[in-house]
Amino acid sequence: MPLIYDLHAHSIVSDGSLTPAELVARAKLMGVDVLALTDHDATDGLAEAGQAATEQGIILVPGVEVSVTWNGATIHIIGLGIDPQCAALQEGLKKLREFRKWRAGEIARRLSAKGIDGALEGAEKFATGALISRTHFARFLVENGYARDIRDVFKRYLVHNKPGYVPGQWATLEEAVSWINAAGGQAVVAHPGRYRLTASKLRQLLAEFKACGGAGLEVVSSAHSQSDCLTMARYSAQFDFLASRGSDYHGPEHIWVELGKIPPLPVECQPIWHNWQSHVPV
Ligand code: AMP
Ligand code: MN
Ligand code: MN
Ligand code: MN
Repeated sequence: MPLIYDLHAHSIVSDGSLTPAELVARAKLMGVDVLALTDHDATDGLAEAGQAATEQGIILVPGVEVSVTWNGATIHIIGLGIDPQCAALQEGLKKLREFRKWRAGEIARRLSAKGIDGALEGAEKFATGALISRTHFARFLVENGYARDIRDVFKRYLVHNKPGYVPGQWATLEEAVSWINAAGGQAVVAHPGRYRLTASKLRQLLAEFKACGGAGLEVVSSAHSQSDCLTMARYSAQFDFLASRGSDYHGPEHIWVELGKIPPLPVECQPIWHNWQSHVPV
């Protein structure tokens, strides 16, 4: 039986709703053999997840999802197989979390100008992990009846051109890849079909990502349509990228996404795990 890989998932350390140990238990239940914990801009959950994985008999790949600004767009770069002790990585992630703190105050000020008070304290109540995210604001806004669900609240308040959106500068593409590579990991463009880039911009992103040492593309993602998967499989071949597979799981309340329950990699792809024997016992 081939192993089942899910290489993109979140815990309460960032904007997921399960603890790292609960996430690992659920992955086991869903038949996942190899799970990557990839919290946004933080690695604080890896020790707990690693311990739980040993207990449950699954393999935990230490990961992270780094926020990047590229050509004005927010892009996410996953690091797989990282050493969380790496100082360059941790210094970089710390700056991103500091930006998040500043941005949270700014989001709250902007919402307050629209008559929504108490958003910072409200969001902080949900942000019990290492950082504060727009998802925590979304939960506060839904709880207080400003929108009917998380998707709706993003659309109305938290995306570009909406009252609670704050533009800003995350890491550069080069920085993110260099931190991941310094930590001994492999850098992967997360959900490349989600950015709504034109084909030529996406090709430019992939060329620059390749040039600065990127290793792979997340070909299969819960954010991808079947045609996105095929497009990304084609780009992987053209740019000589390895292919990754991840659900981007955030918790059981997102009922349309489940750990491990995404299509297999298209057969023509070279899996990112093809030479992992060195650090993943198979
Ligand atoms: P942040 O990194 O704090 O800007 O928040 C981004 C996170 O918000 C993503 O990782 C998703 O989990 C979530 N998110 C972004 N856009 C949406 C959306 N349209 N609907 C639901 N969740 C979203
Ligand atoms: Mn998220
Ligand atoms: Mn993402
Ligand atoms: Mn994610």
